[in-house]
Amino acid sequence: MDEKRLKNYKRAGQIAAEVKEYARQLIKPNMPLLEIAEKIEDKILKLGGKPAFPLNLAKDGIAAHYTPSSNDNEIAAGLLKVDMGVHIDGSIADTAFSLDLTEEEKYKELIRASEDALENALKIIKKSITLSEIGSVIQETITKKGFSPIRNLSGHELGHFLVHAGLIIPSYENNNLTKLQEGAYAIEPFATPGLGLVYDGGKSSIYRLEKQGSVRDATARKIYQYILEEYRTLPFCERWLTKKFGSRTKIALLFLENSGILHHYSKLVEKSNSPVSQAEDTILLTDKVEIITRL
Ligand code: MN
Ligand code: MN
Repeated sequence: MDEKRLKNYKRAGQIAAEVKEYARQLIKPNMPLLEIAEKIEDKILKLGGKPAFPLNLAKDGIAAHYTPSSNDNEIAAGLLKVDMGVHIDGSIADTAFSLDLTEEEKYKELIRASEDALENALKIIKKSITLSEIGSVIQETITKKGFSPIRNLSGHELGHFLVHAGLIIPSYENNNLTKLQEGAYAIEPFATPGLGLVYDGGKSSIYRLEKQGSVRDATARKIYQYILEEYRTLPFCERWLTKKFGSRTKIALLFLENSGILHHYSKLVEKSNSPVSQAEDTILLTDKVEIITRL
């Protein structure tokens, strides 16, 4: 990785770290998710970054891939995962935390399980550690607390304008002796008292470019051009585009989806609909290990 890219990663990480602090102060029970998403994404822009993907605000049994749509009515409650991405010129910092918004703090231990799993994984990570070693420590930490890791959600390598690139890092013992090389990686254990699997639970309003192509509809063409220039291969959402292109956005997105140009992400829901906690940080692995998404 060249100097400039390293610098961009660190800057993206610092912005993400600051925005996490801001988010922890901002989010209160019963706040509209739409307001939370807009304020947090604005904060990223104000600090000089760009969102690498729409702010994810997944509640309770939804593990991932929920962002408010432009007419969203959901409010913050229960167990809320706040997952944000910041990029500087395509270098991405990906980080998440979980909030217990119940009065009785009933998700405290579940949140602790994913946080401890992340800590323990970060403690052992160095160049040439294996996927097996990382997966084992995550699984062990979570199961010791009486919960299960989510097996089909993983940490991942980060690429240029790519949130998921190269290696995936499972959260369970996987006997994979592949070693981590230099690069940027997101470590993200999820914990649940449920089955430990997620399934596709319906459309999310989060998209990314799947392939190049052409459509007839004028709004769809404008949106397509904008996606190519502004988001490239990064995820984006209906809410962002409706703000810019107005009420024809939804139908235009449908045209683009039906023509195979866009991939529409599904919400990822825990199989037994049990609550899910998540903790995530991004590391830069060079001769040393730097956790870039912390202050
Ligand atoms: Mn994330
Ligand atoms: Mn991630």
